[in-house]
Amino acid sequence: MTSPATTVERCIFCKIATGADPSATIMFQNERICIFKDIRPAADHHLLAVPKHHVASVRALTTADRPLLEEMRAELENVMRDQCQIDPVTMAVFGFHVPPFVTVKHLHMHGIAPTGNMGFISKMIFKPNTMWFNTDAAVIDKLPPGPAAEDGASK
Ligand SMILES: [Zn+2]
Ligand SMILES: [Zn+2]
Repeated sequence: MTSPATTVERCIFCKIATGADPSATIMFQNERICIFKDIRPAADHHLLAVPKHHVASVRALTTADRPLLEEMRAELENVMRDQCQIDPVTMAVFGFHVPPFVTVKHLHMHGIAPTGNMGFISKMIFKPNTMWFNTDAAVIDKLPPGPAAEDGASK
């Protein structure tokens, strides 16, 4: 068993999100999220959106995280449209790997385009709403109730 601190220290996506990994190609960031290029792209454009704080996986999310997920999706679409010249609505696939089918244990939303140039294996790995890959809409749909949003200071 590792302590949470150790997990975060060793987490490669925490490192990228805090700017401690100069090899990462960061496309967008704000106080809450960071978007960077996947080092093993499944198509011409393969982006990952992560929260800046460590979240283990979709299983750790509640309805309180819905705005975070919506922001990740919206900014992924903006980066695709503005920086990759891709129409995110018709050309891209978005979603999350579901445990145990997760390689990096820090919540990350994939945005991949154009879907037409993904190989057969990639199409399987990122096939929406399978046992191993869920779209953000499906994840949001299944969020368990979170702490009451009284003052936003919870968690
Ligand atoms: Zn992390
Ligand atoms: Zn993944």
